[in-house]
Amino acid sequence: MILTLLDTQTGETVDVDSPYDAYWWAEGNGSCDCNRIDEFPAAEDELEAAQRQAHPELQEWQGLCYGCTRLLIIAAESDEYTLDEFNEDYPQALKAQWLREIDGDSPA
Ligand SMILES: [Zn+2]
Repeated sequence: MILTLLDTQTGETVDVDSPYDAYWWAEGNGSCDCNRIDEFPAAEDELEAAQRQAHPELQEWQGLCYGCTRLLIIAAESDEYTLDEFNEDYPQALKAQWLREIDGDSPA
């Protein structure tokens, strides 16, 4: 699937030609920042370092979910999901700020 990700903290966008389908991005492993961050290597290093500092109990192979706080899908070629649905668990205010003028669909 072809999509565009936005890092709402830096304003950086990345176009992704993903081997994963719309379901993966909307409801699967791609629905939170954990896997979306793979497209932003610099930010990924930052997030991981911050998590390791905040949670010294984590072993090297362990990690916590980064949650749905930062990385929005702002464009996607899909008939199955709206942008609001691709970003379902992200804060309403974040989506309102960034998707308002992009997505023609009315918010859920
Ligand atoms: Zn996660």
